[in-house]
Amino acid sequence: MELIDKVYIDGALVTPHGAELFDLHNPATAEVIGQVRLGDEVDARTAIAAAKRAFPQFARTGKAERIGWLERMAAAVTARAADLREAVIEEYGAPAARAEWTTAYAASVLRDAARTLDHYDFSRRIGTARVTMEPLGVVGVITPWNANAGFICSKLAMVIASGSTAVVKPSEMSALQTRIVIEALHEAGVPPGVWNIVNGRGETVGAELARHPDVAKISFTGSTATGRAILRAGSETFKRTTLELGGKSPMVILDDADFATAAPLALQAGFMNSGQACLAGTRILVQRARLQEFETAVVAALQHCKAGDPRDPETAIGPMVSRRQWDRVQSYIREGEAEGARLLAGGTGLPDGVDRGWFVKPTVFTDVRNDMVIAREEIFGPVLAIIPYETADDAVAIANDTDYGLHAYVVGADVERARRVADRLVAGRVIINGAPMEPLAPFGGFKHSGIGRENGVFGLEAYLEPKAVMG
Ligand code: NAD
Repeated sequence: MELIDKVYIDGALVTPHGAELFDLHNPATAEVIGQVRLGDEVDARTAIAAAKRAFPQFARTGKAERIGWLERMAAAVTARAADLREAVIEEYGAPAARAEWTTAYAASVLRDAARTLDHYDFSRRIGTARVTMEPLGVVGVITPWNANAGFICSKLAMVIASGSTAVVKPSEMSALQTRIVIEALHEAGVPPGVWNIVNGRGETVGAELARHPDVAKISFTGSTATGRAILRAGSETFKRTTLELGGKSPMVILDDADFATAAPLALQAGFMNSGQACLAGTRILVQRARLQEFETAVVAALQHCKAGDPRDPETAIGPMVSRRQWDRVQSYIREGEAEGARLLAGGTGLPDGVDRGWFVKPTVFTDVRNDMVIAREEIFGPVLAIIPYETADDAVAIANDTDYGLHAYVVGADVERARRVADRLVAGRVIINGAPMEPLAPFGGFKHSGIGRENGVFGLEAYLEPKAVMG
């Protein structure tokens, strides 16, 4: 059994002041596979002090130097891809294809940041003023468990690109991935103190970052409730904040859509990352006149959505990350039944043929009303709601009737019409007919899905402060 008993501060692996041991599980078997020694507030403060010391010199480094570090970081993560993939499967239960994606993403975001930096001009003229874009200082980075390695890398990529320094509080449930990322990034030779990583609980290490006066910005990905607490804690010191929060993304299936492609697309978007994805398309909007036809197509497409052993190549859906998360998803399924939604597939309990682990049956409710709890709250499991609509105007109104606004999806045969619908959706990103993601396009949400954007120029500028000099 693995014991992870070090944190990374000032360029070295050190034993933390905090001494609490936290169990790591394999969610596919529910077995304990290791332990992590958690840091505490003292460790957070030590790391913040190291990042503060490193900042003045790092802020003066040039673009070419930082591009070099980003490329070396990407190469180092790529060199550890096999270990990282294994850790993602072992401690998160991601099916092999998802583990592969997540690992590739951790390296590609670092390369994308190098590309963005290469084209970015930190200085411009506005009338008589010389305007420069200045790094912020120490950034507190807080990540969730659903793509821990990817989020550490995507946020550190922008910290390094901008010339700031960072203290990362990763998800404590993902310590195997974190350990590999630390070892890999250390190889890249970024000066000590520029990035630090302290395993720990949200209420201790995370909260210390959120309130500490020497932290200039928080970059957080996680739940809307925690985002709200972080915003409140940072308000005393006016911290800049990038918050990537929850979602309840709609997929508008237009009346001219071909259901043989629309139904698999809907399941793919909804069951992404075993349903544990902020951008999952969990509300599927279908014209009432074609509802029955769509339901038949969904039942057929579900044949390819097997939940089970993440190492089985046939598996599309892995387990929930924790027992707590499994219980939560089960209670939402019970809630859906109680509020009168019709269960088209799935339901409570373990999937057929599975007798251990935190697996959920791929579940689809139909005839759902948009005011039901299962249509309003983020479930974060493989549970989808088909909501009937009458007209396209009606579909847009239902799609936008939510507290969230992270992602939206449109499917339709007439692409121009689908684009017109996309233009009316209140969401940070809209995907039409399963189009591939553009990595440099801004990512983030409207409304309760967050504040600010990540990726590309918008992501970089979220780590910079403009300064105007006249005369
Ligand atoms: P969470 O909010 O419970 O935890 C996220 C992180 O915050 C963890 O590292 C946790 O330890 C820390 N934390 C908890 N309380 C804290 C506090 N008071 N102060 C500071 N830090 C604290 O979220 P989770 O369950 O780990 O992740 C799932 C959530 O993340 C979902 O809501 C999902 O939609 C969201 N998410 C959003 C995006 C996005 O880009 N918008 C991406 C992935 C996940």
